[in-house]
Amino acid sequence: MLEDSHYYFQKAADVLNLPDRLREILWTPLRVVKVDLVIDDDDGCLQHYQGYRVQHNKARGPMKGGLRYHPSMDEDHAAALANLMTWKTAIVDVPFGGAKGGINCDPSTMSERELNVVTRRFVEQTKEIIGPTIDIPAPDVNTNAKVMGWIMDEYSKYAGFSPGVVTGKPLELFGSEGRDEATGRGVMVVLDEALKDRGQNWQDTRVAVQGFGNVGANAARLVAKQGAKIVAVADHLGGVSHDDGLDIDALGLWVGEHRTVKGFPGGMAFSGPEIIAWDADVLIPAALEGAITEDNVSGVKADIIVEGANGPTTPAAHEFLVRRGVLIVPDILANAGGVTASYFEWAQNIQQFRWKKTRVDEELTHKMREAYLAVSAVAKKEQIDMRIAAFVLAIRRVGHAAISRTYVPEDIQL
Ligand code: NAD
Repeated sequence: MLEDSHYYFQKAADVLNLPDRLREILWTPLRVVKVDLVIDDDDGCLQHYQGYRVQHNKARGPMKGGLRYHPSMDEDHAAALANLMTWKTAIVDVPFGGAKGGINCDPSTMSERELNVVTRRFVEQTKEIIGPTIDIPAPDVNTNAKVMGWIMDEYSKYAGFSPGVVTGKPLELFGSEGRDEATGRGVMVVLDEALKDRGQNWQDTRVAVQGFGNVGANAARLVAKQGAKIVAVADHLGGVSHDDGLDIDALGLWVGEHRTVKGFPGGMAFSGPEIIAWDADVLIPAALEGAITEDNVSGVKADIIVEGANGPTTPAAHEFLVRRGVLIVPDILANAGGVTASYFEWAQNIQQFRWKKTRVDEELTHKMREAYLAVSAVAKKEQIDMRIAAFVLAIRRVGHAAISRTYVPEDIQL
């Protein structure tokens, strides 16, 4: 994944004619931290896990990014995702840099007590490098509002009342209205702009969605509300389709009960991987990285792809789709609704003032539209695709902030 981002970063840096020294400065993480977390498990045995936090860049503000609890979590994974966060926060123009981290544990095999203890150990070991003005974690894969509440509680023991140390907290613990569905809402807003770009309207649009978790389910619901038909949805166990459009509310209730779309009686079953080649105008990959690859890209029929997931398209597949004229709204733009709403949560925490949901939704819509139009303007001006344009815009913003903070010789100006 880090190589994929590096490929796009270099292409964008070429467009900007970025000097090598500046490329190196903007690419290299500022700080990489690895901590050992020792806990007593429920059987009274000592267990130890590794915790990671990679802080990539802070030129535009305190660093921001999720915490992932997954056995595959390691330094490289954290570094790749931290890097994406730097560009993402710059594209939606929120005053943050980029970071990411996590613990190499498997929450599905741990009790809630064990998760609570390992989370508190992580805070204990990283308390000097996180904080409302330093680095603000958020939920990611296998972490949720409850975990964020624990982090806030543990950090506040050392630093005093600090709701702004994490975002994605429970509503009753200084979380924000609208944060839960924000990434899906952002996907819907950028799709609205992409349809306008292509002269299409919502009513005649058929959409296929991969993944029906936080991002996929909310995006599907909000896109259906605009009048588009969600003709197919797939998750890790299978898919379900309906040519006249699936009833997304009913599907949501089914998934709430069965943890999968498989078996939903309101549509026809198909095998999950078929979703990539579904006969639809729009494809929303909202599951995992590497969903569209050299092996399946030739089957893609959609002419708009909105990347709800991080890194769902490999560079080879990206180049193939661009050559074919497919409009790809890239991850660092398309799924930035989550970090934007996190910024609103942080701002509310700092002001000790609560916004209504209508305000969060309105401001989020405004930010996402502005970001899409800014990226699209760069794409049109430079005659490049939306992904490279997003990187160009982000590198320019981060680069200018970095340069403005210090003395920089003439030869490495941006
Ligand atoms: P989630 O765990 O809530 O849902 C993931 C969904 O993907 C589930 O429906 C799961 O069944 C499905 N899935 C997993 N493996 C699959 C496979 N092989 N084939 C098809 N479907 C599969 O996760 P989420 O929070 O919705 O995140 C999804 C993606 O969006 C991730 O890449 C994440 O990093 C990215 N993202 C999430 C947010 C957010 O706010 N949640 C923000 C930005 C980016």
